[in-house]
Amino acid sequence: MNILVINAGSSSLKYQLIDMTKHEVMAKGLCERIGIEGSNIQHTNVAKDTKTKIEKPMKDHGDAIQMVIHALVDEEHGVIKSMDEIGAVGHRVVHGAESFADSCIIDAKVKEALEMCVPLAPLHNPPNIIGIEACEKIMPGVPQVGVFDTAFHQTMPPKAFMYALPYDLYEKDRIRKYGFHGTSHKYVSQKAAEFLGKDISELKIITCHLGNGSSISAVDGGKCVDTSMGFTPLDGVVMGTRTGSMDPAVVTYLINKEGMSGEEVDKLMNKQSGVFGISGVSSDFRDLTAAAAEGNDRAQLALDMFFYSVKKFIGAYTAAMGGVDAIVFTAGIGENDARTRAAIVDGLEFMGIAIDPEKNAARGTVDISADGASVKTLVIPTNEELMIAIDTQRLVEG
Ligand code: AMP
Repeated sequence: MNILVINAGSSSLKYQLIDMTKHEVMAKGLCERIGIEGSNIQHTNVAKDTKTKIEKPMKDHGDAIQMVIHALVDEEHGVIKSMDEIGAVGHRVVHGAESFADSCIIDAKVKEALEMCVPLAPLHNPPNIIGIEACEKIMPGVPQVGVFDTAFHQTMPPKAFMYALPYDLYEKDRIRKYGFHGTSHKYVSQKAAEFLGKDISELKIITCHLGNGSSISAVDGGKCVDTSMGFTPLDGVVMGTRTGSMDPAVVTYLINKEGMSGEEVDKLMNKQSGVFGISGVSSDFRDLTAAAAEGNDRAQLALDMFFYSVKKFIGAYTAAMGGVDAIVFTAGIGENDARTRAAIVDGLEFMGIAIDPEKNAARGTVDISADGASVKTLVIPTNEELMIAIDTQRLVEG
């Protein structure tokens, strides 16, 4: 079966067509500037290793999906003969709230529940829904599956997901921790178990998804028991441009003393803070490392704050699970930045966590633990698209 994976944003749409017999990407691409001037599609035929960019007006996501289908069946750049070769579509959906603890086949009831989740992710869920509706129109009869960033975290117990606010705010507005990057945490924790040749039900794993947005999860027996992002992706570790956890009283202080509006504080904390805000240099770890090497103290401080915040979550989640068997690093920083991995685990030898500098320099899926370390430290490249396709196939084939 070939599965089309769709990740629809407000004015963009990413796609991959995956051959599930081999778990291989056949084609992938990106539609940009949907609904604005300069719409274009960038399409890659993976087998032929060819890239094409076509500029064509796309007034909405329906036009974009139509362009994706054209690209996939195109005689020169395509990978399939007709749309009939697409067995199902898997859609990334950012927020499933408490309605979705697993991926699910989309029907009228599910769409109703998706609409109910919109207030929790007003920027992300509406384009996800538009993408689903566009596919339904253009590919009638092809099963559509929703895969939620929040679903994997729905196994957290109330003591982990509740905030100590008056209880009626949870009942009325569903204010609680949801967690994000769930598809990635699920994928790498399953891969870690496979890699270690163990049943996931026997393992306590801490997954560190470290990218521009970062989150850490405690995965006990294959189930998420805690995660660092919260009601929104702002919570947890220091990130590229997000603060991570801090005293919420800073918000009221900024509003009262600096006269900032709620919207301004929101922008400050999400877009102008994190390692970017501290360093004043960049949100990209390559730039920060280069600046720190040249003696930029604030760049070094930003890096140190990041290392420290991740290290503290590793300690906290080890305590929460009563031990840890494996630490997994993934995403842009986790997969590529050996120095950051080393700095995060530095000093954790007392917990049985230590890495081998030579192994740490390797790339791909790799065990970087030092000989004799009782905890395995692994690097596992994430693959959210493949996880979406695997879930889609599981549901469609029953
Ligand atoms: P992601 O959000 O997972 O795409 O990760 C993006 C981030 O990964 C970038 O902003 C960089 O900070 C980081 N990154 C990517 N490649 C490298 C690298 N080779 N070395 C250090 N950091 C990297």
